[in-house]
Amino acid sequence: MALSIMYDLAIVGAGWAGFNAALRAKELSLQSCLIDSEALGGVCLNQGCIPTKTFIQSAKVYSLVKKASLFGVESKEATFDLNKLIERKEKIIQQLSAGMRFSLKGVDLISARAGILSVNQIQAGDKIIQAKNIIIATGSLPMELPQLKFDHKKIISSTELLNLKDIPETLLVIGGGVIGCEFASLFSGLGSKVTLVEKCAQLLPGFDADISRKLENVFKKRGIEVKTNSEVSESDTADFTLSLLCVGRAPNPGDLGLEKIGVKLDRNTVVVNDYLATSVENIYAAGDCTGKLMLAHYAAYQGKLAVDNIMGKKIKADNAVVPNCIFTDPQVSGVGLSQAEAQAKGLNIKISKFDFLGSGAARILDEADGFIKVISDKDTGCLLGASIIGPQACELSAVFGVAISAHLNTEGLRKMIFAHPTLSESVQDSLKS
Ligand SMILES: Cc1cc2nc3c(=O)[nH]c(=O)nc-3n(C[C@H](O)[C@H](O)[C@H](O)COP(=O)(O)OP(=O)(O)OC[C@H]3O[C@@H](n4cnc5c(N)ncnc54)[C@H](O)[C@@H]3O)c2cc1C
Repeated sequence: MALSIMYDLAIVGAGWAGFNAALRAKELSLQSCLIDSEALGGVCLNQGCIPTKTFIQSAKVYSLVKKASLFGVESKEATFDLNKLIERKEKIIQQLSAGMRFSLKGVDLISARAGILSVNQIQAGDKIIQAKNIIIATGSLPMELPQLKFDHKKIISSTELLNLKDIPETLLVIGGGVIGCEFASLFSGLGSKVTLVEKCAQLLPGFDADISRKLENVFKKRGIEVKTNSEVSESDTADFTLSLLCVGRAPNPGDLGLEKIGVKLDRNTVVVNDYLATSVENIYAAGDCTGKLMLAHYAAYQGKLAVDNIMGKKIKADNAVVPNCIFTDPQVSGVGLSQAEAQAKGLNIKISKFDFLGSGAARILDEADGFIKVISDKDTGCLLGASIIGPQACELSAVFGVAISAHLNTEGLRKMIFAHPTLSESVQDSLKS
């Protein structure tokens, strides 16, 4: 069996966590390798963020064309070609993958299933990779329910829903979390009759309750049947063309055999401390496999931080200001503390709101349904968080994210001059007392 050189760093999993760890290692001139048995880019590039948002953009264009006459544009009846959308999605993935490959020049890419042999050795296909340090970045897998499993024909995962031949006439979406709400919104926009079922009392459990209520109302107005406080059994799926099972994702330790070498797992989650170190000194972990915030941008942050800490920096992972974005129509986002979180901490807070009905830019876009809710400290005026539903909510969350990170108070942000007429000036409007 061929032994590799002794790398400074071997990374297992080339998703957003592993890729960003490799980029950071390259910046620091570490000799490193990145191992994955599947396509470069992991879930985010191949089955998650990028393909879903490509679909969502098509649904948006379709809806705009259908209402073109509202803007004074007359066009023939809009039709939708799913094959073209899938072709476009594949092209975007290829383009981004090529860019990633280019940026990784100097990092050895190893296409193989990995297994850990010892604290310094990884089996990858017919090679034994030797490394001073290892980062585990093996991602997550979709969960099933005890009473409901994927049959990959009628009960499918989000990955399969992105490669359909036809738009399903009826779609049952099981799970009203981020993925479920995005797909319900998307497929309703593409013409499916959608039923969305959520076990908890609200859609997007854990999110600001006013925002969830608003999203539910908009969904209902669009013809999506929303059932909260509801469970689904296999017989319920019989009435639908397809059922999407999206009840969350579970950390995946990648069948590496980590426990054999002393890496602690907790129900398949790779246990890490605040510095992303596992229970074995030279082995770190990043991304969904650590069971923290399962978001691509947080995985990227963790990947880079793990490398910095391996190099002796000792920086604690911080998740206080991580935007959480849901690309439904209308979009939803949250950053910093929600109202409920701030109240649970016993903070003396002030809530201010702005309705997009008052925004010129939102009216021009014909997307004035929604609002911004800002949470600030009543005594100091310090910004604590913002929850948004409405046009470009995901982009707008970045403005609040920067302000919260910079410890700006409402007064400071209010003094800024925002361009008119833009959606970002709604940020300023949302801070008026
Ligand atoms: C439908 C969907 C939409 C999403 N949309 C968004 C979004 O809009 N924004 C957002 O922030 N997040 C989104 N996410 C979440 C995001 O995709 C994940 O948080 C992110 O991909 C996690 O990155 P990761 O690197 O930790 O893991 P992954 O991307 O899962 O990568 C792990 C990699 O490890 C490899 N691997 C595992 N075991 C082994 C082994 N033994 N040997 C070799 N390789 C192995 C796998 O092949 C995989 O490529 C979405 C997820 C889904 C499912």
